[in-house]
Amino acid sequence: MIDEAVGRAELILHLRRQSVASVKVLSAMERVPRSMFLRAAEQPLAYKDRALPIECGQTISQPTVVAMMTEALALTGAERVLEVGTGSGYQTAVLSHLAARVVSVERFEALSGLARERLTVLGLRNVTLLVADGAEPLGGEPLDRVLVTAAAQDLPSPLLDALSPGGVLVAPIGPADGVQTLTRWTRSDEGVRTEALAAVRFVPLRRGVRLAH
Ligand code: SAH
Repeated sequence: MIDEAVGRAELILHLRRQSVASVKVLSAMERVPRSMFLRAAEQPLAYKDRALPIECGQTISQPTVVAMMTEALALTGAERVLEVGTGSGYQTAVLSHLAARVVSVERFEALSGLARERLTVLGLRNVTLLVADGAEPLGGEPLDRVLVTAAAQDLPSPLLDALSPGGVLVAPIGPADGVQTLTRWTRSDEGVRTEALAAVRFVPLRRGVRLAH
């Protein structure tokens, strides 16, 4: 049995030592019990700075990477955010504390269902979970922020097209089985600026939805 509060506090101290500077991001992460997003076997490792396996052969991202991606989005609290790759729902929960609304899409229906249960228990009501291929055009209003948590060799163009003026998109770009570059796109009146942020490793973005049963 791990002590939740101690585990989370130690993780936050570790993130600060890793140069995560945003107090808002740190306190959002302190509010989310990462153990709740894991299977029993992985729960003892919940507050280690490690990516861990989750259901459907996917992974929950490493906490420093979650912090880095969340910081890179520069959220003020007013934004509508799209996350592609709900996975466990952990990153979704962190975003929900920092944005006005979060829409998160996942291609595995089973993962989306588990994430829904967890986010409901946590009482996070500004989140909408959808089972969909996040590389397809979603329609709807322009998005202020987009976070892709699965790696693609090339950014699916519908995601960049959906970005509103002033919008920010963060995604890992690179090979499925190698090191990828966490990349940030910022749309302004002058065009789109692209920045390389860090070397990362994510599970690949895959096409099509996978229904349970
Ligand atoms: N943010 C997650 C990380 C999950 S790993 C977390 O905190 O746990 C990436 C997830 O992206 C996987 O669950 C995978 O199934 C999903 N994914 C991959 N390709 C996708 C696509 N085209 N559309 C939606 N989700 C996708």
